[in-house]
Amino acid sequence: MKPIYEPKGKAKEYGDLAINIYTGCPHRCYYCFAPNVLHRDKEKFHSVIEPRANIVEEVKRQIEREGITGKLIHLCFTCDPYPLGYDSTPTREIIKVIKESGNNVQILTKNGYDALRDFDLLDENDLFGVTYTGYPEDEFRTFPAAERCADAPLSRLKALKIAKDKGIKTWVSCEPVICENDIIELIQFADYIDFWKIGKMNHYPSDINWKEFGIRAERFLKTRRRNYYIKDSLREEMNK
Ligand code: SF4
Repeated sequence: MKPIYEPKGKAKEYGDLAINIYTGCPHRCYYCFAPNVLHRDKEKFHSVIEPRANIVEEVKRQIEREGITGKLIHLCFTCDPYPLGYDSTPTREIIKVIKESGNNVQILTKNGYDALRDFDLLDENDLFGVTYTGYPEDEFRTFPAAERCADAPLSRLKALKIAKDKGIKTWVSCEPVICENDIIELIQFADYIDFWKIGKMNHYPSDINWKEFGIRAERFLKTRRRNYYIKDSLREEMNK
């Protein structure tokens, strides 16, 4: 088993190396691509969440065997490193293994609250990030309709602020984009986010004018001097 792998295609825009720790994810985002990518039954993917077999030991073995060091390793791509309502101790153990071997982590989660526990393991060379797709105001403090079993958007932003105060680098993945005006607002006011990655919707339909959104978002990113990356799919729309 080689749990550390190089993401391919569009996933490569997330990072050079990644680990998927769990067999499924309980967050039930309607736009979730993971069951398709993994050729898994959707209901099973969202209801059977376990750490992959011997995942901590396998990560340790692969790092030693291949002499992996000095890398930034993304957690996770086809699951969430902090599945809400489940024990995420394997994530903590894997972060320890990664850090002790001279590598760093790039975390991406929709569960800010549980991630706080592991901030003691992170430093200025790690990236802690959350997904933020843009939300209607009445969903900001609760389970959002699009990600109905994930943590509240407000809680995710609070976790980013706490990470920033602790000297950990912060980032946000705005992909897919669901409520574009909310993202534009976040760009203007969220000084605690060090790095922005902006994309568009995946294979689901959307009424958003991507060209207009991309141009508007980039204008604010530049005006506020944000460090950012526009994903290829959105850049293509902007260049049309
Ligand atoms: S957090 Fe990611 S893996 Fe989990 S249901 Fe949502 S899109 Fe799928």
